[in-house]
Amino acid sequence: MSVIYDRVALIGLGLIAGSMSLAMRQAGLVREVVGYARSAETRATAAEIGLVDRVTDSAADAVRDADLIVLAVPVGAMGEIAAEIAPFLKKGAVVTDVGSVKQAVIEAVAPHIPEGVHFIPSHPLAGTEHSGPRSGFASLFSNRWWLLTPPEGADRAEVDRLASLIRGIGANVEDMDAAHHDTVLAVTSHTPHLIAYTMVGVADHIKRVTESEVIKYSAAGFRDFTRIAASDPTMWRDVFLQNKEAVLDILGRFAEELFVLQRAIRMGDGQHLHDYFTRTRAIRRGII
Ligand code: NAD
Repeated sequence: MSVIYDRVALIGLGLIAGSMSLAMRQAGLVREVVGYARSAETRATAAEIGLVDRVTDSAADAVRDADLIVLAVPVGAMGEIAAEIAPFLKKGAVVTDVGSVKQAVIEAVAPHIPEGVHFIPSHPLAGTEHSGPRSGFASLFSNRWWLLTPPEGADRAEVDRLASLIRGIGANVEDMDAAHHDTVLAVTSHTPHLIAYTMVGVADHIKRVTESEVIKYSAAGFRDFTRIAASDPTMWRDVFLQNKEAVLDILGRFAEELFVLQRAIRMGDGQHLHDYFTRTRAIRRGII
């Protein structure tokens, strides 16, 4: 495949940025990847494992000559980092972010983007419960969706160019309205994470069952269902604070459905439970 961007700057060197770097370099889509990380430990690890071509401790230095800048920090830190790099962005550069929330990130980042620089927000629907520079792997995005939420009037050629980089690392690209994105992701990702965290919290608070029993006798249900509760606390704190309305809406609906099921169990309404599980199983079986 041919080179799409000469120099890419990755801001933050965790799971997503690391996977992007490995995938882009493996596919020969970029000439150089420069990585900025705030912590000395992350920079040392990234250098040691060759995660990027060059590591720097200065965000300004990372973005100065970059053609593509990827903001890959927790969503609550996007605005601050955008303000920091803004004076050093070159004309014609593309800035994207990989944040799990779109409206709040756009509101925080867009005001800092200078004239002549393209801001194309994005979100890869791919991840694991692991984080940090050692967690990345090149195939993370294979056959996953990667949503773009370009603002009205965005330069179509630049959107297509970014989309071709993303396709080059194995993902499928679609455009989506930012507000709709936040509602869809509240259902398919954010609320499930909150419920998984809660399930572990519940297990922790049942005094008749000790913590070591929960860990030792963790059955498939608890194991499968709570895998995502091992995810990074900073990332998820930010997601819930930044996608507040949509998550509270879906959480309200979740609580309503749960009460109905609770009542069906109490009343011995097997028909209701059976019908409900039949309908939800059909939906779940459609997900590969
Ligand atoms: P990660 O924890 O693996 O990496 C985040 C990196 O950002 C780390 O290097 C951390 O040190 C750095 N960082 C944190 N706060 C910072 C700050 N204030 N300034 C500069 N650097 C800072 O996280 P990740 O999973 O790669 O997530 C990065 C972004 O991608 C987040 O916005 C997240 O919402 C989004 N995302 C995550 C997933 C997932 O499943 N993990 C999936 C899609 C999108």
